[in-house]
Order: sequence, then C-alpha cells, then structure tokens
Amino acid sequence: MTEDVIIIGGAVMGASAAYWLTRMAPGLRVLVVEQDPSYAQAATALSVASVRQQFSDPTNVKISRFGIDFIRNFSENIGPSGDVPSLGLQENGYLFLTTDPAQRQVMEELAAMQRACGAATEVWSADQVKARFPWIETSDLAAGSFGPRDEGWFDNMGLLAGFRNAARAQGARFETGRAIGLAVNGDRITGVEIEGRGLVPCGSVVNAAGTRGAAVLRWVGLDLPVEPRKRTVFVINAPNARHPDAPLLIDRGFYLRPERGQWITATVPHEDHACDASDFEPDLHLFEDVIWEQLYARCPGFDAVKVVRHWVGHYDYNTLDQNAILGPHPALPNLFLMNGFSGHGLQQSPAVGRGIAEHILSGGWQSIDLSELSFDRVAQGKPMVERAIV
Ligand SMILES: Cc1cc2nc3c(=O)[nH]c(=O)nc-3n(C[C@H](O)[C@H](O)[C@H](O)COP(=O)(O)OP(=O)(O)OC[C@H]3O[C@@H](n4cnc5c(N)ncnc54)[C@H](O)[C@@H]3O)c2cc1C
Repeated sequence: MTEDVIIIGGAVMGASAAYWLTRMAPGLRVLVVEQDPSYAQAATALSVASVRQQFSDPTNVKISRFGIDFIRNFSENIGPSGDVPSLGLQENGYLFLTTDPAQRQVMEELAAMQRACGAATEVWSADQVKARFPWIETSDLAAGSFGPRDEGWFDNMGLLAGFRNAARAQGARFETGRAIGLAVNGDRITGVEIEGRGLVPCGSVVNAAGTRGAAVLRWVGLDLPVEPRKRTVFVINAPNARHPDAPLLIDRGFYLRPERGQWITATVPHEDHACDASDFEPDLHLFEDVIWEQLYARCPGFDAVKVVRHWVGHYDYNTLDQNAILGPHPALPNLFLMNGFSGHGLQQSPAVGRGIAEHILSGGWQSIDLSELSFDRVAQGKPMVERAIV
C-alpha cells in the first residue's frame, strides 16, 4: 500500500507535521518512522524548552507569535485526543543584556519590529534592569531587552506527546524503524527504504531527522549544511540566589534560567564544531572555565554554587546561518525539509509543522510565508540574517 506521506523522524517536528497533515486532510495516509521511540538522544528531549519573541528576523517573530499562543492554550488547541492537560508555561520572560552602548539602538529597533508583530518587548536602561531584578549586577550594562509576556519555558515532552497522541487519534501511524534510503525516479522520491522492512512507496517524504537530517540527503547525493553540535547543560544549586521570578537571562558567555528551585545554565563552547551524532560525552570543564566566573560577575548571589546534574544535547546546527531550512528541496520537489533549527526548533514546531503540512497539501506557504527559510538561500549561499542566536 502506498503511503501519502512518510515522515522520517518522530520527535517534535515529525509529530507536529503528522498532526497538522492529518488534521487538515482526514484520511491522508501518514506514516512516521522513528528509530528510537524513547527519544533518549533527540534534541526535543534534551532541550531547555524555552520560547521567546525576541528574534531579529520578522519571519521568526511571526513563527513565535503563533507558537506562544499554541503552547499557552495547548490543551484546547490540540484537543482531548492530545491527552495533555497543560504544558505548564512559565511566562517569566527573556532578558537579553548588552554592555555595548551602540547595541541599545539596535535593541530599540528590534523591539519596535517585534511589537509591530504583536510581541511586547521593552528596552530597559541599566537602572530599569536593576529596579526589576535587583540581584543582577548592572554597573557595566548599556541596556537590557525584556519580554514581559509571551516568553518563558514549558514542558517539551508534553508538547511532543500531545502532537503524537493527537496525530495518532487522527489516523497517523508511528512505526519504530530506521529509514536507510530513498528510492528516486527522475526528480521524484517514490519510496523510503526501512531497515528490515524494505521499500515503502509514498507520495511525499518529510525529513524531520534532526541532527541526522544531512544523512537523509546524502542517500540521494545531496548536501544539507546541518551537523550535530554538542551543548552541555548544567543544573546548579545556588542557595544564596533564590529568585523564582527570574527571566531567562542571556548574557555574554552564558544563559541562565530558574528550574524548580534550581537553575539551568549553559554556554556556547569557544571551540564549537561538528560532533558525532552519538557522542554524548559532556564538556564538564565549561562550567568552571567559562560559565561560573561570568555568572558570578553578573549575579553575585551565585557565590556558592554546586553542579548537581548535567546533560548533553545536540543542536541540529545549520552552518550557513543557524536557522531552519524548510520546504521542498528544489532538486526533489516531493522531499520536504524541516531541518537546521539550531537551538530554537522546539518553540517553532507548531508553526513550522502547520506550514509544512499546508505546503504539502496545497503546493505553497499559506498561514505564514516561510519562503525566506527555504532551501533557495542555501543553494545561493546567501545566509538569512538572524542576530538573536543563542
Ligand atoms: C541543549 C539544547 C537546548 C535547546 N533549547 C531550546 C529552547 O530553549 N527552545 C527551543 O525552541 N529549542 C531548543 N533547542 C532546539 C530544539 O530542541 C530542536 O531544534 C528541536 O527539538 C528539533 O526537533 P526535531 O524533531 O527536528 O529533532 P530531534 O528532536 O533531534 O528528533 C529527530 C528524530 O529523528 C529520528 N531519526 C533520525 N534519523 C532517523 C532515521 N534514519 N530513521 C528514523 N528516525 C530517525 C531520531 O531518532 C530523533 O528522534 C535546544 C536544543 C538543545 C540540544
């Protein structure tokens, strides 16, 4: 039996696409192939699960505008078959800090653009940052940019479970298996080779394979500038820093947010390069060598800290411009890409899943024009400029 759509990868992107496809087109035959239904190594499960409006590119802001409403009212949006009462959105905001006076003007311009899209971003002086969050050291700050609503963190696995449950209830089938090849005839994909099962014929394929997305294109001799990049996340206790209303703080060299009486923090390693997709060895030195000194300088209450836990996740890192690559591949128009999210994919999954489903079903972008994120820019070597990359 021919599948209408086969989705390779059943984490948040694959599950979202399956949900939207079967919601928009009841009866469509959608098969999701996932090699590890425990999701132990999926970025979806290893994310710090936060959502923001503060992007510099308007398309990313529009994606976030849809995402936050969908996440906030998840239970109503996904319906009872999603079987997730709430994603527990903690709306503490993001606070981006800068010590560079020239950046204040940039922050003002970006905040105006974000507000024009419906966000609530405010740009604060150092004194305003201090007044709101007295535990932050502000003497060297030029400005801060804060989202008083629509930004925070939520239950990542609840989001995945809701998409998957609802997709299943609408008729999508999730199968444990490993896709290992694509069959091609001219410029069409005609099927997906699944290990131990053989070739399954299909009308379209969605590449939602996360950090392994480039491997899918290599099967047919194509390149995708996406590679796994290791991120070590630390959970710390800081008994002298008790600020449950703290935002997700983005400072030079680290980010930080509260998590149930503890804190989560991470940095981008100076030596940032591709890693093996199965390498989950933590870079433990990053806390002592990079994060702690800067964290203490910015927040003196973090004088006594203890790392109580850590984990490693991989960004599905787009080496061209650290942004999603979406939509049909120009060489194989029935191969749809959902790749390269580089650290902000979880929050984009509601809008991007809807967008891909609309494109598969109608032949073009509908609710949000996502063409800026298409493969064309990769083919032309023209990076999309998004300045708010974390
Ligand atoms: C440390 C960290 C922090 C992050 N923080 C945030 C954040 O705060 N906010 C945010 O929005 N995003 C964040 N992200 C990014 C976000 O988690 C990812 O962009 C998003 O989860 C990507 O989802 P995905 O479904 O594309 O990929 P994944 O979750 O990686 O899933 C890909 C799936 O494909 C399967 N697969 C791969 N190859 C095959 C194959 N051949 N056959 C069958 N199955 C296959 C894998 O088993 C896997 O389950 C973070 C990521 C990390 C690592």
